[in-house]
Amino acid sequence: MIVVLSRDAVPKEKELVKLYLSDRGFTVRDQHFGDDELLGTSGKGMVDIRELSILPGVERVAATSKPYELASRETKGEDTIVTVGASSSTPVTIGGSRITVIAGPCAVEGRSQIMETAARVRESGAVLLRGGAYKPRTSPYAFQGLGFKGLEYMKEAGEACGMPIVTEVVSSELAVQMKDLVDMFQIGARNMQNFELLKKVGSFGMPVLLKRGPSATIEEWLLSAEYLLASGSSDVVLCERGIRTFETYTRNTLDISAIPVVKGLSHLPVIVDPSHAVGIRAKVSPAALAAIAAGADGLTIEVHPRPDEALSDGPQSLFPEQFERLMRDVEALAPVVGKELLRTPRPAPAGHAGVELSGGKGTVPASGSGSGEKIAFSGESGAYAEQALMRAFGEEAPRLSVPSFGAIFDAVLDGSAAYGVVPVENSLTGTVHENYDLFLRYPDIAIAGELKLRIVHCLIGSPDTEITGVKIVRSHPQGFAQCKDFLDKHPLWKLEACNDTATAVASIAREGAAGMAAIAGEAASRAHGLKILKAGIETNPLNYTRFLVISRRQGRTAPVPSSLGSEKANKASLVFSVSDEPGSLFACLKILSDRGINLSKLESRPIQGKPWEYLFYIDATIPEDPGLFDAALAELKARARDFHFLGTYRASL
Ligand code: PEP
Ligand code: MN
Repeated sequence: MIVVLSRDAVPKEKELVKLYLSDRGFTVRDQHFGDDELLGTSGKGMVDIRELSILPGVERVAATSKPYELASRETKGEDTIVTVGASSSTPVTIGGSRITVIAGPCAVEGRSQIMETAARVRESGAVLLRGGAYKPRTSPYAFQGLGFKGLEYMKEAGEACGMPIVTEVVSSELAVQMKDLVDMFQIGARNMQNFELLKKVGSFGMPVLLKRGPSATIEEWLLSAEYLLASGSSDVVLCERGIRTFETYTRNTLDISAIPVVKGLSHLPVIVDPSHAVGIRAKVSPAALAAIAAGADGLTIEVHPRPDEALSDGPQSLFPEQFERLMRDVEALAPVVGKELLRTPRPAPAGHAGVELSGGKGTVPASGSGSGEKIAFSGESGAYAEQALMRAFGEEAPRLSVPSFGAIFDAVLDGSAAYGVVPVENSLTGTVHENYDLFLRYPDIAIAGELKLRIVHCLIGSPDTEITGVKIVRSHPQGFAQCKDFLDKHPLWKLEACNDTATAVASIAREGAAGMAAIAGEAASRAHGLKILKAGIETNPLNYTRFLVISRRQGRTAPVPSSLGSEKANKASLVFSVSDEPGSLFACLKILSDRGINLSKLESRPIQGKPWEYLFYIDATIPEDPGLFDAALAELKARARDFHFLGTYRASL
């Protein structure tokens, strides 16, 4: 059992709580977890938890049934998001809705090798650099690493490429010497139960990557994490790297099932090392993809510019080209499991901005900080747009909830939000015309970025509602449309449209009426404390919504938020109409096709107030030579009517 003390508890209150516990047969220890002060208990005491919970100075009591108390999900329900390189200019997060990839060689072999590898893996989107300077090798005659010199090379390479570094520490003495150069310590599989090392490394309060021992059970692994947490580190990431089984074809056996199991038992992020798990280059990428599909928060991958020359683990190291291919596959797979690949480190946190929800809807607890500039979305807590926002700007991004799409454009225009996130298209139900219309009404706003979110709809009700008792269902009309097949099976249900899916959930939470349900995402159910009656009710599981990030226009384009990366824009959106004469649309499209410009979308829609006249929406790929695109635009502008250039941005996969 753990007692979390209130942040404003005074020493006298703390002493009284301790006395209360020891009087009832517990041994009490002082602990810290992140910024929280805790009292840990052991022994066979008996206590009335309700009475303990209301003692002055007590914030809450977590009664865990697990021996790993701090690591247990019973103690902390929400996922831990670990920040590595917090004080660097490129801090990286592990956990939450993003997939984080660590890459680098097995061992640092020299300055040029690590510099070259770092540059290659960074280019493909790795955000943390790995590499061993002190190598625990099975044979004493094998390459043992370059030691401290290797660490210095690695630090230099990490700084040159903007990547915090993670490296293995093999002894407490070395830990002290390495501390100032390392951003994240790795505890290797062979040292998972080196408890003195765990205590020492934990006491630094730095991020730690804890590998699973080759023969460790999940419980033993979590107890090792507990050592780190209990000694002072709250930033622990677990790494499954294969366990020893009777199978000899692969180096170890990747325990894929450990990923969902551990994520259920613990709030700590879990990443996977497929390189050491399978030990065979050709099998690394399939295993890596399986890990992502099973819910891993990231990967650590061995990459070498010339694996055949590697001094250690060459046979399992990927060529940089293979790593690039894997990253593209991970990027494509991520939305299927509701995640996004973190290809670019977030900008360094600067100051703190609380999270405001306008319109008298109260506030979402402020946590962490982003750039301090708010991002507007439409809906309440748990809305799909909020998920998209977190994906684009990070979980901690300060956000502004507004009641309509128009209010997003207003907030961006008047500066109360730096960016906005708006849905423009769903893969099942098509274009959200309202937002295209808003682009035309707000010419000073342009597109800055794009992302796609997989939409998994759930039927959500109050805790005492059963699906058989449902009579009224609330959602956004898009929610109804995307769940048509499911709703068709329940023809007696009365459908009530709401402004957005999360608002539908919130209204049910507020009214608490039995017989009512909402169609929305799992996050909305969680945010409003309701129950999922049925998950995955969308007609087709390949259900994606495309969101655009908008900002105030600066010339032809809008500034791109740093969290979306610095890759060159390769897509543009435009809207125009044409004169009512033969070949006028053809002539406009020919301007693009003559220059080899590909279109990824062409849609027409009636112009409001002008019956039988049409607007054409176009998404075009910007060719390598931007001059071609500029020339095409100039010509198109002269030829088309009502020409609107909505912006250029990096296409999401
Ligand atoms: C490593 O990652 O370099 C390593 C030695 O891995 P493990 O401890 O999992 O064998
Ligand atoms: Mn290795």
